[in-house]
Amino acid sequence: MKATVVSLLLVVTSVTTLPAPVAAQAVSATSRSAAEPIQYTVAFPAPHTHYVEITAVVPTSRRPTVELMMAVWTPGSYLVREFERNVEGVVATASGRALTVEKSDKNRWRITTTGASTIEVRYRVYGREMSVRTNWIDAGFALLNGAPTFLTLTDGLARPHDVTIVPAQGWSKSFTAMPAAGGTHRYRAADFDTLVDSPILVGNAAAYEFTIDGKRHLLVNEGEAGVFDGAMAARDLEAIVKECRRIWGFLPYDRYVFFNLLTERSGGLEHKDSSVLMASRWATRTRGAYVSWLELASHELLHAWNVKRLRPVELGPFNYEQEVNTRSLWIAEGITDYFADLVVTRAGLSSRDQLLGSIATRVNELQTSPGRLVQSAEQASFDAWIKYYRPDENSNNTTVSYYTKGALLGFLLDAKVRKATAGKRRLEDVMIAAYQKYAGDRGYTPDQFRAVAEQVAGVSLGEFWAGAVTGTADLDYSEALEVFGLRFGPAPERDSPWLGVTTRSEAGRLLVSQVRRGSPAEAAGINVDDEIIAMDEFRVAADRLDARLDQYRAGDRVRVMVARRDQLLGVVVTLGTEPARYGRLVIDPMAPEAAVQQRTRWLQPGS
Ligand SMILES: [Zn+2]
Repeated sequence: MKATVVSLLLVVTSVTTLPAPVAAQAVSATSRSAAEPIQYTVAFPAPHTHYVEITAVVPTSRRPTVELMMAVWTPGSYLVREFERNVEGVVATASGRALTVEKSDKNRWRITTTGASTIEVRYRVYGREMSVRTNWIDAGFALLNGAPTFLTLTDGLARPHDVTIVPAQGWSKSFTAMPAAGGTHRYRAADFDTLVDSPILVGNAAAYEFTIDGKRHLLVNEGEAGVFDGAMAARDLEAIVKECRRIWGFLPYDRYVFFNLLTERSGGLEHKDSSVLMASRWATRTRGAYVSWLELASHELLHAWNVKRLRPVELGPFNYEQEVNTRSLWIAEGITDYFADLVVTRAGLSSRDQLLGSIATRVNELQTSPGRLVQSAEQASFDAWIKYYRPDENSNNTTVSYYTKGALLGFLLDAKVRKATAGKRRLEDVMIAAYQKYAGDRGYTPDQFRAVAEQVAGVSLGEFWAGAVTGTADLDYSEALEVFGLRFGPAPERDSPWLGVTTRSEAGRLLVSQVRRGSPAEAAGINVDDEIIAMDEFRVAADRLDARLDQYRAGDRVRVMVARRDQLLGVVVTLGTEPARYGRLVIDPMAPEAAVQQRTRWLQPGS
């Protein structure tokens, strides 16, 4: 890989002339092996209409028909999104002759080649969904993800996929982590996986560069608008990359791009050599928002190790046409989240109290979710496609977040390993050992990951796993608090009586959004979408529910007037007491010296 460093460098070029469309002759000049590339030309003749126009020169191996497909989902975002719904106008030609194109499945097209060795396929893709996993095209810029953009041969994923970009008028730059292929805006993905894993940003984004271990890192900011402080963000990202490298001992890529779209949306998606972040352009203006942005960047960067290279066995090679279930997203996402916040603190970019605050927030989120007693961390991982990514009004009662619980499992596991080894080993060592054993093509099974953790800890983790990972027992935080010399501060007061609903205001109406399992509202038969009109003969204004509840005490019986599908009903509720919450996570002043040392080591840079 070293020899190709120069050609691997990201190309940031100005357009002087538009590159010529890739000619079919160029293909025949290359080898006729199975490795013959598909060559795409990606153009934006009218970006304000939100379309990208694709021309693909597709080798056929002289088969009478070929079948092309579009991925229905994209790795890292576990939902079938039916990207093919945005494809239109698929036509094919061979030497200028029109070929028959037939839709053969929701996301497949069968083309009769009439024996041609290469065919040219043209189509348009509509892109106006601003998210890290979809396409956005407008007059200002385009973000293209591989999965929702490129049709490929159903049986040719291993071949190179070449991309030539023709920027819209007025756009001068294209960015992608795909290796440059020589020439302006030309790139080559070694295979379809790389193409899908290499988002492309075209426009006039601002770019900031830094080098660590001789490896180029690029922060590409779209939409700074003189508000987002790109130079500061790049400086702080450099500290984050260094801290991640300290944890893992090396950088796993040749170069890395942070695509940062300041579009007033949120989210992040990891790739092997890049990540796409979405945030507010005001994110550098306030401390809290900035720390959140740094934690997001840290999370996506950590994925370069955890999930893109060290991965659950099921997550590769990908079947792009159906769901891929794995029990290990709590490791891939939750443990990543645990380290993400820790890295930002260790890099000196967030305070110890901010870190402890985010752990306590996760504890309260988990402990107040009835779904924690229904769904285990492994089940939550497995059913991500049909539950986490498809939440409804009952989700909090029946599901648990593998991010939230997974991060807490990381915290508990870190403490367990430290305790079992008298501080000599940590969760980092588990991840590194797992990386050494399973990164790359192998992937780990749940049992293999557990075995690595047990080897590093030198003790059995069977009981912990049975309760916390594969089971739904409540988590026990006491050991971790003891190891790190922490304690929970006093729990918040619970004066107000509790009904157990969340509500929304719609056109001045107070509507029930969720009814919590085990709550007084559930017991009394208050339903989701009921409109709360009155309590004990007095009207409740849309913004006055809490104030009205404050007039009662736990145990009081209240007659609640609701409208359900326009019918008025009286429901008698016996108000309760809100389930206990944990207080703030704070330093334990009585902690023994060993715990103080452990905590110091946990938080300090390079620890
Ligand atoms: Zn993630």
